[in-house]
Amino acid sequence: MAQGRVALVTGGTRGIGAAISKGLQAKGYKVAANYGGNDEAAQAFKAETGIPVFKFDVGDLASCEAGIKAIESEVGPIEVLVNNAGITRDGAFHKMTFDKWQAVIKTNLDSMFTCTRPLIEGMRNRGFGRIIIISSINGQKGQAGQTNYSAAKAGVIGFAKALAQESASKGITVNVIAPGYIATDMVMAVPEEIRNKIIATIPTGRLGKAEEIAHAVEYLASDEAGFINGSTLTVNGGQHFV
Ligand code: NDP
Repeated sequence: MAQGRVALVTGGTRGIGAAISKGLQAKGYKVAANYGGNDEAAQAFKAETGIPVFKFDVGDLASCEAGIKAIESEVGPIEVLVNNAGITRDGAFHKMTFDKWQAVIKTNLDSMFTCTRPLIEGMRNRGFGRIIIISSINGQKGQAGQTNYSAAKAGVIGFAKALAQESASKGITVNVIAPGYIATDMVMAVPEEIRNKIIATIPTGRLGKAEEIAHAVEYLASDEAGFINGSTLTVNGGQHFV
């Protein structure tokens, strides 16, 4: 039943989001890909895939309301929302500036409100919705140097559990995917020496592929996943934490 359903992927033009956009397109969804500022990457993605791109800041409510309105009038009512856009601004907490803290909370946590609130009433009225949120292993276990990121990525798990309980009776599921380390620009920006140390902690012995996250999204978006609600799926190559 994916055929023709409209899916919005935030941060859908690069990295994991681009793989999700392409994966949903291949399953028959009408995809709209959002991005924040990298016009060059967005235009290259659009030329490659034919997927329409929409530039708006996921941390800003007015921009999201306008962007979502444009998508719903140009592409159709959004039935699948993938809250994927995210940033890092790493640093030890005792040296972290409030700017770095706020930037990450805004993009990674406020975006749960700004991107979901404008479209959830439509999902409720139509009696169907799939909301899939990309958290992180570092939201589950905490990561030194990432207090801001870990706080935001843990926050989205609580958000999903609460919203799932509010929305389940309306045919809406809200689930989280917590990726481990995936080979995208975000992780390739980590110095090679540190990256190799990270890879040594992954039982599978390699970084994940963006497509491996996309396949998990495709499943959670499907009709068959209708009884999975408020859950967090780890996709991390077997990294264990308590
Ligand atoms: P990338 O940096 O490769 O891509 C990020 C995407 O998000 C880009 O499309 C970017 O747009 C968009 N974006 C960033 N800020 C905004 C904003 N304010 N408004 C709109 N769009 C924005 O990231 P990844 O693909 O690596 O990460 C995707 C998600 O997965 C993130 O939430 C990240 O935290 C999470 N994650 C990633 C892991 C990894 O190992 N890579 C591991 C665990 C979780 P633009 O191109 O315009 O900059």
